[in-house]
Amino acid sequence: MAVTGLCILGATGSVGCSTLDVVARHPERFRVVALTAHRQGERLLEQCRRFRPDVAVVDSVDAAERLRAGLDAAGVPTTVWHGEAGLIQAASLPEVTAVMAAIVGAAGLLPTLSAVRAGKTVLLANKESVVMGGALFMDEVRRHGARLIPIDSEHNAIFQCLPRDFAPGLDGAGVRRLLLTASGGPFRQFPAEQLAHVTPQAACAHPNWVMGRKISVDSATLMNKGLEVIEAHWLFGLPPERIEVVVHPQSVVHSLVEYVDGSVLAQLGHPDMRTPIAHALGWPQRLDVGLPLLDLVQIGQLNFEAPDRERFPALDLAYQALRAGGGAPVVLNAANEAAVAAFLANRLPFTGIGELIGRVLAQLGGEPAGCWEAVIELDRRTRATCAAWLGGEA
Ligand code: NDP
Ligand code: MG
Repeated sequence: MAVTGLCILGATGSVGCSTLDVVARHPERFRVVALTAHRQGERLLEQCRRFRPDVAVVDSVDAAERLRAGLDAAGVPTTVWHGEAGLIQAASLPEVTAVMAAIVGAAGLLPTLSAVRAGKTVLLANKESVVMGGALFMDEVRRHGARLIPIDSEHNAIFQCLPRDFAPGLDGAGVRRLLLTASGGPFRQFPAEQLAHVTPQAACAHPNWVMGRKISVDSATLMNKGLEVIEAHWLFGLPPERIEVVVHPQSVVHSLVEYVDGSVLAQLGHPDMRTPIAHALGWPQRLDVGLPLLDLVQIGQLNFEAPDRERFPALDLAYQALRAGGGAPVVLNAANEAAVAAFLANRLPFTGIGELIGRVLAQLGGEPAGCWEAVIELDRRTRATCAAWLGGEA
């Protein structure tokens, strides 16, 4: 079996660490070619000692010097690069066949795009890059012959429930609609009046999944599901009215595909990212990741309910941005990142996240974003608008 040369963008994060966990169980299948980090240089050093990549990338010259000193002391011959140029280069190295795109947020766009443009197999966790790029991103995938395999558990579930060759279109495959499941987050049952007072710590304490802080807050607002609706639209090519969200608090059913004959296929599993990661890394084979059996009797019940669109307005803002098209998803994503960062820094109440996004979307959502320069400029303008608004509020 061919050995996969792997680049992990965002190796020090939640998805990155789970990826290395899967890789470590199958050393004969993978060679770690490149690992990248942002702030967690120490963790990256540990990973380099263990997996001995050819290249490691950190954010700054100083961090690169520190990492190089640590590697020298440990006798590890990894080459160290830094900055966005280093990320872009790492993702397109000739020795790399598959790139795990697991940087969080818009920072992942250009490195992920670099992997796409180099025609790699892209294991896509960084949903923000598809939300921002939309049709431009998917055009690049087609033009460069890259293969996208979704890591997001919902999209990975849908991918598993679709026929092998669904690329020509889901209508031809007899698909009626996609159902994305959502856990509902930590505040699913909170009364509306309490939501203004919830803390970043409470928002990051997800009931089922252990994840990075940004996506944890996105799960609490339901913006994560909103971004996933947009992601599903681009990955699978169905219009927004055929992509629905259902709250499923146990996070055992990861998503469903309904066919025209009434068949509904679902993928089930523990809420553990190693399952979609292993699926994507091994595809089309299956890799053992050592998870316990799924004990349905012990789980007992699987519940489903409608999302509360009043308490969690972010979901409808995302549908609105998807329907509006143009630059609206870029604005949605950038405003969300700015709002979540402000909430995590105690500068914005939880309920202010949706308010800020709604306000900025109304202001800038009509702007076009027909080329990458326009996308990047609109992302920058949205962040500047949010910063001015947040500054004025403080
Ligand atoms: P984390 O915050 O845990 O990790 C993010 C990674 O990106 C870290 O390696 C971090 O480096 C790196 N990073 C952060 N900012 C930058 C930057 N400006 N430039 C370069 N690298 C950067 O996030 P998650 O692993 O939770 O999520 C990663 C992506 O996967 C997100 O897009 C998320 O939506 C998606 N995803 C995550 C899931 C999960 O279960 N966690 C599930 C489904 C999707 P460092 O830590 O060194 O600072
Ligand atoms: Mg998800």
